[in-house]
Amino acid sequence: MHISKILENHNPALSFEFFPPKSEEASISLYNTVNDLKPLKPAYVSVTYGAGGSTRELTHELVVKLQKETNIPMVSHLTCVGSSKNEIKNILEIYSKSGIENIMALRGDIPKCAEIFKPDSSGFSHAFELVQFIKKEFSSMGIGVAGFPEGHPETPNRLHEIDYLRQKVDAGADYICTQLFFDNRDFFDFCERCEIAGIKVPIIAGIMPVVSKSNMTRIAELAAGARFPAALLRKMNNANKEDAEKIGIEWAFLQCRELLEHRVSGIHFYTLNKSKAVLEIFKNLS
Ligand SMILES: Cc1cc2nc3c(=O)[nH]c(=O)nc-3n(C[C@H](O)[C@H](O)[C@H](O)COP(=O)(O)OP(=O)(O)OC[C@H]3O[C@@H](n4cnc5c(N)ncnc54)[C@H](O)[C@@H]3O)c2cc1C
Repeated sequence: MHISKILENHNPALSFEFFPPKSEEASISLYNTVNDLKPLKPAYVSVTYGAGGSTRELTHELVVKLQKETNIPMVSHLTCVGSSKNEIKNILEIYSKSGIENIMALRGDIPKCAEIFKPDSSGFSHAFELVQFIKKEFSSMGIGVAGFPEGHPETPNRLHEIDYLRQKVDAGADYICTQLFFDNRDFFDFCERCEIAGIKVPIIAGIMPVVSKSNMTRIAELAAGARFPAALLRKMNNANKEDAEKIGIEWAFLQCRELLEHRVSGIHFYTLNKSKAVLEIFKNLS
């Protein structure tokens, strides 16, 4: 089922993101997480797509396996980075044959060894081109795209940025899932700016609970543009290990509660393949 349909049926849709594990141990840990979170009945689950070749194979395997074993609707992330059109077409054919009905169409993170993004000579430069391609060649696929409430660092011009987001929606995206953010005002303002730009598709809020100070450092490196509000920073800086986890979970819980009060279409949890924080947030929300 398309995520757009799922969003109509779930009010709101709560979903989880995983990344493909790279070792046997990490794989066991992920399956434990999936088993822990399955009783929460997620509306769907998504799996990220890495820049390296081997990780890509793991994404396909994991998506297909989870779909078969859990019966939860899957969204597979797919990026323009490092792939030719033919490679992308082959991947989409595999997904189509395996019953995967939803793709998160992304430009992709720039590989660590490169400073700027250079598209494959026969590939796509921006996510909107990938959306156009999927829409043309695999018209039955549901398509999600990324949105950045705090802005994307490569486009400091915020007016252009919303135009580019609109371009992805006009190309055929069914919904937007946002980058993680820690201040709901950024999300609400982003939704309003989308409305002004005539973007009418549902917008899903991306939430990541911070569980430690080192986790915060990692998030800052991974998530383009994400800013930690002073109130959260101050609390985390003054906390010991145990308190830091509590503070991060409480912060994310309060964000979710407010988002639900504002009747968001969905909340997508960036789980980092761990269940504890999400379980606590769901317990508190209920
Ligand atoms: C929900 C979510 C999931 C993600 N999952 C993954 C993943 O699995 N794997 C991964 O590698 N990365 C992932 N990312 C990170 C993402 O790939 C990067 O943040 C990337 O830099 C931007 O991707 P995009 O799809 O928004 O690209 P685009 O929409 O192509 O935008 C990239 C930059 O180009 C600009 N731009 C867009 N269109 C135009 C145009 N026509 N002309 C000029 N400039 C333009 C944009 O403003 C932006 O600055 C994810 C991000 C989010 C929010």
